[in-house]
Amino acid sequence: MSRVWNFSAGPAALPEEVLTQVCDEVLDWHGCGMSVMEMSHRGPAFGTILDAAEADLRELLAVPDNYKVLFLQGGATQLFSQIPMNLAAGKSGDYLVTGSWSKKAVEEAARVAPIAGAVHVAGSTAVKGAPADGFTRFLRDDEINLDPNAAFVHLCTNETIYGVEVQDDCAALAARAGAVPLVADMSSHILSRKIDVSRYGLIYAGAQKNIGPSGLVLVIVREDLLGKAIATLPSTMDFSVMAENGSMLNTPPTFGIYVAGLVFQWLKRQGGVAAIEQANIRKAELLYRCIDQSGGFYRNPVDPANRSRMNVPFTLADAALDGVFLKAAEAAGLMNLKGHKSVGGMRASIYNAIPESGVQALVDFMQQFAKVHG
Ligand code: PMP
Repeated sequence: MSRVWNFSAGPAALPEEVLTQVCDEVLDWHGCGMSVMEMSHRGPAFGTILDAAEADLRELLAVPDNYKVLFLQGGATQLFSQIPMNLAAGKSGDYLVTGSWSKKAVEEAARVAPIAGAVHVAGSTAVKGAPADGFTRFLRDDEINLDPNAAFVHLCTNETIYGVEVQDDCAALAARAGAVPLVADMSSHILSRKIDVSRYGLIYAGAQKNIGPSGLVLVIVREDLLGKAIATLPSTMDFSVMAENGSMLNTPPTFGIYVAGLVFQWLKRQGGVAAIEQANIRKAELLYRCIDQSGGFYRNPVDPANRSRMNVPFTLADAALDGVFLKAAEAAGLMNLKGHKSVGGMRASIYNAIPESGVQALVDFMQQFAKVHG
């Protein structure tokens, strides 16, 4: 068996140690004689798994006590409409549009606006006429037009496709929003860096990047924001109902929660979020340096102040070489480097589970490729 370097944007690489542990435990979890996949979600064994996952996540992100942690299904996409139906209470939501995912959030919220609350785009970095809107940066302060009466301010703190990341943990934005809570889609960079949870009213993240397998989505929500859902909301979509039932109103995605719990333990063994953040800074610097020092052979269009540490899109000066690059990369065991179809080019997603040696292998390959084809 040989493993490749997997630069997929998601579902993405998981720590090898975690996968090995899953293999070891898959037939007999801790002497139960069965797999986690086969056990009742109401039984004591799964209870310890869920409790440990929540406790470890709370520790890793220093989640304050007045926040609930929910393990849900439906993905981040479902949350785009679920969030206004839970939080808006007839008020409008302010939306910052800085890439495809925050744009998608607007589209989904607009679908439920007649029952949830109006959608107000409070700022956008879309470039008129540019292919696929040409997102390359976060909003400047003077481009954000907040409504003090809004129910929340929604943003995506790491745009996975464009590789645009908010670097200041929303300090400036939270200060401006004041009493209006920030709602952040952190799907593609949660647990990659330290955050101050108390700056946000609600944080959400699909699991399939830095957390675990797909099928699980995480919500961290401040308690005072609960209890405002529209009356007709199905109970499985109601954050308050799910919180009251400890994410177990119905059968939760048990295997996903189990693997997420193992990833949290792995992350603690790495030294927690502060330590992985340092590794992520080194990994990103290595890759961006390779791009910037390639004499234009490779190019990343993102404003350096907003370059994502997790998702690094880049183009080749000669797009005719794209196919050659991808084929040669695959032959070298470097997989899933093709950029998202909406923007083309390449993208390397270098989540927590990709070690520095994986990024070094990519950089070595890119330098060699540029030498041969430059
Ligand atoms: N938000 C962001 C930032 C994402 O990267 C993604 C998925 N790539 C989504 C939302 C949508 O997630 P899902 O496919 O789990 O609905």
